[in-house]
Amino acid sequence: MSLRTIDSLGDLTGKKVLVRCDLNVPLKDGQITDDGRIRASLPTLNRLIQAGARVIVVSHLGRPDGEPNSKYSLAPVAQRLCELLGKPVVFATDTVGSAAEESVAELEDGGVALLENLRFNAHETSKDAGERAQFAAKLAAFGDAFVSDGFGVVHRKQASVFELAEALPSAAGLLIEQELDVLERLTVVPEKPYTVVLGGSKVSDKLAVIGALLPKVDRLLIGGGMLFTFLVALGHKVGSSLLELDQVDAVKGYLAEAERLGVEIVLPTDIVVASEFGGDAEHVVTSADAIEETAFGASGLGLDIGPDTAARFAEAIIDSKTVFWNGPMGVFELAPFAAGTRAVASALTTFEGFGVVGGGDSAAAVRALGFNDDQFGHISTGGGASLEFLEGKSLPGLEVLGWQK
Ligand code: ADP
Ligand code: MG
Repeated sequence: MSLRTIDSLGDLTGKKVLVRCDLNVPLKDGQITDDGRIRASLPTLNRLIQAGARVIVVSHLGRPDGEPNSKYSLAPVAQRLCELLGKPVVFATDTVGSAAEESVAELEDGGVALLENLRFNAHETSKDAGERAQFAAKLAAFGDAFVSDGFGVVHRKQASVFELAEALPSAAGLLIEQELDVLERLTVVPEKPYTVVLGGSKVSDKLAVIGALLPKVDRLLIGGGMLFTFLVALGHKVGSSLLELDQVDAVKGYLAEAERLGVEIVLPTDIVVASEFGGDAEHVVTSADAIEETAFGASGLGLDIGPDTAARFAEAIIDSKTVFWNGPMGVFELAPFAAGTRAVASALTTFEGFGVVGGGDSAAAVRALGFNDDQFGHISTGGGASLEFLEGKSLPGLEVLGWQK
């Protein structure tokens, strides 16, 4: 593996170093519910602090659609970062405006500033390369060097991931290095049987990776929101569950391709169906081909895999040597729909192979359900990024750091 690392930036004493982290943590009522991504950023930040750099941290949080929105402020993150680093963190209330300028000017050697949410600026995620470059230039004006460490966003061609790395002397941080080491273990010669477990709610994103994963895996377990598109592809009705109708034909293609390649696609046979979305909703377990036949009829919502499916998924995991899991099996945030996710997590803690959990919500789920990070082979900060890496795609945020397999 080749990649420019922090050492390549030379002596950083007194240098202003911009660091792109992925501090996109889950929040509930303004409280951080899982600070895993902040913790994962600490090694790089501490390394730069010790080197005497003036550290300017940038990150996104959520999807605020290109304008300031206090709901997505990084202020709570600044506070947690300050606690975890054990030193003050200057928080700038804008990203490239006068507040940011002042915060950066105030920094001493070894000091840390966090700028407000990158995505309060529409150019950060613009499709127009010129607009992204403009925004990156404003960020670059703050620093002498750039360290890219937001592994969760390296698959995105965004200003703070791609153009900023072109605008300054740049290198990968320690988190990216560590994540790549793990993913290489999954791609170079994964021990077989190799199983990938997919779930979650970013259905179209995740369906899109299946075609490329099929030639690489032995077994694919499908839960979460995407399972309903599979059920429809098999001719079943799914009530009001998450569904991507325009993907049904693609899914039929994946099923045929899996059969041709001898890849086992394990689909749910029972589903937990609820009357509506909510922790107090009435719910029943039903056969996966009879979702509309419950008392809730066509308004029934599939919110978790059923107990038989959970047991079959657990068996398939335990029978594997390598497992990558991305995406909760159900709406784990609501207690009645957490059992499928718990069963998969639990199987991963007991099986005797190398198991990786990827994705912000998946990582948050295992922690919320009471598991510890050290019960898993690795908990990755990246879901989409990991999947695209496993597919063998080129990731713009890595290429720009000189990455080569
Ligand atoms: P990750 O962040 O791990 O990549 P996603 O962001 O794709 O995962 O999806 C996480 C979300 O998926 C969770 O908030 C969970 O509630 C939701 N989810 C899982 N199963 C379902 C389902 N059947 N219906 C609706 N949402 C679901
Ligand atoms: Mg997510």
